[in-house]
Amino acid sequence: MLYHSTNNPAHRVELKEAILRSLPPDNGLYMPDTLPVLGDDFWKNHRELSFQEIGFEVANAFFGEDVPEDALREIVNGTVAFDAPLVTLAPGDHILELFHGPTLAFKDFGARFMARLMAWLTRDEDRELTVLVATSGDTGGAVASAFLNVPGTRVIILYPKGKVSGLQEKQLTALGGNIKALEIDGSFDDCQALVKSAFLDQELSETLNLTSANSINLARLVPQSFYYIHSARQLPENVAPVFVVPSGNFGNLTAGLLAARLGLPVDHFIAATNRNDVVPAYLLSGEYAPRPSVTTISNAMDVGSPSNFVRMQSLFKNSWADMRGKISGMAFSDEETRAAIREVKSVHGYVIDPHGAVAWLAARKWRASHPGSATISLETAHPSKFLDVIDAELGQDAIEIPERLAVLADREKVAISFPNDPAKFHDWLRSL
Ligand SMILES: *Cc1c(COP(=O)(O)O)cnc(C)c1O
Repeated sequence: MLYHSTNNPAHRVELKEAILRSLPPDNGLYMPDTLPVLGDDFWKNHRELSFQEIGFEVANAFFGEDVPEDALREIVNGTVAFDAPLVTLAPGDHILELFHGPTLAFKDFGARFMARLMAWLTRDEDRELTVLVATSGDTGGAVASAFLNVPGTRVIILYPKGKVSGLQEKQLTALGGNIKALEIDGSFDDCQALVKSAFLDQELSETLNLTSANSINLARLVPQSFYYIHSARQLPENVAPVFVVPSGNFGNLTAGLLAARLGLPVDHFIAATNRNDVVPAYLLSGEYAPRPSVTTISNAMDVGSPSNFVRMQSLFKNSWADMRGKISGMAFSDEETRAAIREVKSVHGYVIDPHGAVAWLAARKWRASHPGSATISLETAHPSKFLDVIDAELGQDAIEIPERLAVLADREKVAISFPNDPAKFHDWLRSL
């Protein structure tokens, strides 16, 4: 399979380049040249398959031409090593829990698949692969955990000083091994700009064999479509779900669109956001107006210029009318989100995190105008990752911190303090 840039269909590359380069030189994003479709046999039998087998069939449809079956099965089985259960709060009101992985966020699916695929793609090379990633919280932890002790790789995480939660910081800084954390005296945008500056330095990028682990990478998107299929089949046959996706960079929603293209019956998608509502506003007006992000309590969705929007446009051939026929946008304030956290607990006895709460609000609004529909709201992180909000709304002791997060509290933070200075950053990289 070949991959082309969203900016230029004539710029086409092989899988290895699309994954290791991450970004086409023209600043577009890579898309598969042909979008795969799963055949009738698969859809007839898919209810009997395991979650891992679903994952293999999807991965095989995208990567089967380039990766042999046994290697691909190993990559998928290593990725899907935990479940994604569907919890029903009330008739038609379903929650898809995507936080059962090692770092308690859905990003574990994408990061684990990408780490394994990159290791396979570089299996014959002596040169070490250097993975650079800028994070505002969850991405860095998922990537660090996925690459920890993967031979032939090292990971450098840049995070903004004082802007990630205590336990999130430990997920980035307490692993050791082949993971290094840089605490940047700046914002998340500064971290992203530093990463970009390193890629733009051709010589540096080549000597260090640099690659990116941000959600622009196709290897992170494909495994996220596994759980759309896995969750839909847990509803009664002939019920096509409405997927409600709490969104920031829109990688998760794009993965849902890929699942629909594979042949999954989906009634509708809802792009649920906090006040950073660039995409919901576009769906209403047809005007796309990116703007600087504002801070909210669902901070993993504080994105003002969503990177995967160009992929969504490409999937709808740049037609606003087609996109809004399949996706509706809804945005909610922090006050509404806090009220939802309290209501879901008092009415259903369920503790939902701020991102899942935004989805739940959108799902409820949709069901009110579409009675009888079945919504699946994606619960993208475990509530214990956002203890300050949960404690404030539900009181302390509302949730238990899972063991795999709790153990980090006692570990030592090891990070290098670093100024927001590209030249110093490049020198430091060269000295590695
Ligand atoms: C990253 C993240 C999101 C946003 O996902 P996108 O794919 O960027 O839209 C939502 N919720 C949580 C908890 C996240 O970590």
